Amino acid sequence: MLNKFFPNTIINFHAVYDKAWMEKVLILLKKNYNMVSAIDIESFYRRGYKLKNSCHITFDDGDQSFYKIVYPIIKKHKIPVSIYVSPLMTMEKKNFWFQEILGYDNKKLREIISTTIKDQPKNYSSYPLGALLKNMQLEFIWKIIYEYQKETSTPMKPGMNMTYEQLLELHRSGLVEIGAHTQNHPILKNENDKTAFIEITESISQLRIMLQSEVKYFAYPNGVPHLDFGQREINILKNAGIYISYSTENNTIDAKDDPLSVPRNGISKGNNAFIMAKLFAGRRWDPFKKLLIKGDEIKYRYNKCL
Ligand SMILES: [Zn+2]
Repeated sequence: MLNKFFPNTIINFHAVYDKAWMEKVLILLKKNYNMVSAIDIESFYRRGYKLKNSCHITFDDGDQSFYKIVYPIIKKHKIPVSIYVSPLMTMEKKNFWFQEILGYDNKKLREIISTTIKDQPKNYSSYPLGALLKNMQLEFIWKIIYEYQKETSTPMKPGMNMTYEQLLELHRSGLVEIGAHTQNHPILKNENDKTAFIEITESISQLRIMLQSEVKYFAYPNGVPHLDFGQREINILKNAGIYISYSTENNTIDAKDDPLSVPRNGISKGNNAFIMAKLFAGRRWDPFKKLLIKGDEIKYRYNKCL
């Protein structure tokens, strides 16, 4: 029985560590929504196709856990999804910067940031580490990672993302639509025009060659509108022939949205009641979240000093 109270929505996941949790969440969604594909979302925005009580699921980054944990579950329950990957990470078996620093000693990282970056924000110590890094250009983030590795004799991690063969298998399954997510996952707004253009267009063109297929969809790294991307990125995507690009703005979808800035509700944890409350709250969730979480990362992101 479909729950008519849930508005059309797109849900975003990243790496998944818990198989039982993932299956429970997907069953819950399937019970409450019509599960639709990326092409249905394209039709909704581009061809006036009506959606009712519908949900599309996306996964960002192309982590191995998608192939190992999620893919068997969506095959079993026949749920269409779309994923957003970097062809560069795939082909070179490399990690995004945030994958590389997983498990690093935060205190040591902060110490390196304070010696590497000259102009510190005044109240730097109160900044969450994630906000500090996301305020930087990619070049500086990697400078800090290399310095950490040098000082602590930490080797580069083996690749954590899906292989080319796995992506091809997903592409041929008919259940998984593959879109681009830049090459190196910079916060696009922090980069200059040339880097932003190359990061976006090369990820699309390389993915087209790898899949021997059209690439029509894109997801912005980190994805907060106005903070992580802006009109410049939207224009680049428009010129590159992208139909739909996804942000991480927590909201339900509406035919009046800009198809190159489509909101998605992020889910990374929580029991069924929590998830349904979040989906039911829709656009009211963000202010609610700010009441719950002290030291919201985004607050510090608006205060760029690096
Ligand atoms: Zn991402």
